[in-house]
Amino acid sequence: MSGLRISWKPNCKRSSLPKRAEVPVVISHRCPQDHPCPCVRMCPEDAVIQHGFAAPEIDKNKCVDCGACVDICPYKAITDMPQEKNVRMTF
Ligand code: SF4
Ligand code: SF4
Repeated sequence: MSGLRISWKPNCKRSSLPKRAEVPVVISHRCPQDHPCPCVRMCPEDAVIQHGFAAPEIDKNKCVDCGACVDICPYKAITDMPQEKNVRMTF
């Protein structure tokens, strides 16, 4: 068998989570935009959306700020941002 399959999803449904001080933000220029984003499959709330190989987007209405996508991205293209700075930002 070749390749890596990740089937585990973090158990962090909305009701079981303490509120974090930080939220995930996509910094699109850090993403090489040449592969399927593993965060789409890993996000427990299906809050990560990717069109083609473009940098993903995070649906703030679904995201529970678990931080899994921040840990997964090898390019740090999804990073934590303090809640109070979570205004609409373009990078
Ligand atoms: S894991 Fe990171 S680098 Fe890869 S597609 Fe997702 S955001 Fe981009
Ligand atoms: S922090 Fe990332 S993995 Fe967790 S719910 Fe939000 S978008 Fe999904």
